[in-house]
Amino acid sequence: MAVSIQFCGGARTVTGSMHLITTKHSKIILDCGLFQGKRDEYFAINSQFPFNPQNLDACVLSHAHIDHSGNIPSLVKKGFRASVYCTPATRDLCRYMLPDSGHIQEEDIKYVNKINRRRGMPPRAPLYTKEDAEKALKYFRALDYDHTMRIADDVDLNFYDGGHILGSTITVLDVMTGSRQPVRIAYAVDLGRENMPLLDDPEVPPGINYLIMESTYGGRKHETLKEAEIKLAKTINKTVNRGGKVIIPSFALERTQLIVYFISELIRRKMVPKIPIYVDGPLAVSLTQVFRENWKYFDETTKKSFLEHKDPFSHDNIEYISKVEDSKKLHDIDKPIIIISASGMCENGRIQHHLKNNIENPKNTIVVIGFMARDTLGRRIVEEQKTVRIFGRPYDLRAEVVVINAFSSHADCDGLVEYAGKCRGNLRQIFLVHGEPDQAEILKNNIRKRFRLKISIPLRGEAVYLR
Ligand SMILES: [Zn+2]
Ligand SMILES: [Zn+2]
Repeated sequence: MAVSIQFCGGARTVTGSMHLITTKHSKIILDCGLFQGKRDEYFAINSQFPFNPQNLDACVLSHAHIDHSGNIPSLVKKGFRASVYCTPATRDLCRYMLPDSGHIQEEDIKYVNKINRRRGMPPRAPLYTKEDAEKALKYFRALDYDHTMRIADDVDLNFYDGGHILGSTITVLDVMTGSRQPVRIAYAVDLGRENMPLLDDPEVPPGINYLIMESTYGGRKHETLKEAEIKLAKTINKTVNRGGKVIIPSFALERTQLIVYFISELIRRKMVPKIPIYVDGPLAVSLTQVFRENWKYFDETTKKSFLEHKDPFSHDNIEYISKVEDSKKLHDIDKPIIIISASGMCENGRIQHHLKNNIENPKNTIVVIGFMARDTLGRRIVEEQKTVRIFGRPYDLRAEVVVINAFSSHADCDGLVEYAGKCRGNLRQIFLVHGEPDQAEILKNNIRKRFRLKISIPLRGEAVYLR
């Protein structure tokens, strides 16, 4: 059978997802994500493709997170002229996510070039600009869940709900090989978590032959949402009682809307007092608007609330802030408030200003609700280092730090094993990607303990022929 998968990126690591499917008549990539790493490696990996983008027949995008969508502008810069297929919600989210990413690249290079100039080194160009990102959006084509589209001569595409973030999918490709049944390849990267608010649980496509699955939390279990809720309520109450502010660094996409939902629920159930909540940052504001416009993709409870004119992201104590002037005004407020702001890892964006202004006051609390990578300000806060540098200046970390790990929108070790089990029927092989090697290895062993399945953990660049 002339079908192969090459694991071009996001293999044995969590960022830069990209996999090339080659059939008799076509070449298709699943995702085209940004690889995150130190600057030189970042450039080397993201600016080169192990195939000619001009020869691709399609790019299929699983969801709007930057580690899956963020390198599409580079792909277009290198000559890709086919279509990028995704759900309508993913397309709408990418309209903001990709230009924002272009803007961040431009800002980063400005900073690099300032240093290069001082050292007499030549200026560098950004990986892509905001304008490049806007050009790339023209190639997006939306396909809804439960529809089939022929995207190449011998390949049909179907999207199932991935339950990970708004618009996320389990991508299913049916490759016609001349035999009676097409070969069914499913791509569950990233895979959502069951029983999360707002979203439906991940669907299980029938008749999968080959499953490419994530393994981010292959060896870790999430705290339960109940535990998280209690911890969050306790933290807010404690901070309010001492007259402090709650600062929450958060990714603008999904995590922000989820935390707004959680706090609003705590207020509704009178577990915490109704204090003002500020969602600060233009990207978070735009993305929340996309959430409202795509309300029909949420779970039944959330849909019902929209149908009854109750917007779960808007209450009279929540203010969404786009303008810098309005953001600056938050510094002068001298009473308990909650500020939710990006970036999630505190490396750029307005959160840095809020941290700078609040980190030295022991009345305040910094609540960490997302993953903080090594060498980021967020990680230094999690480690409770005595002093941290913000905008090049040292600040004493005197605010309380509370870490809540339960808000992840990824399936954890048990969820991944269960999911693999549900896909069994016609399954010939599982490929574990999107995870550090130790996590993938634990997951592989745990799936094997329960089910007799062939599982591999491909290397980056490795190609596998399906048979
Ligand atoms: Zn994701
Ligand atoms: Zn991901």
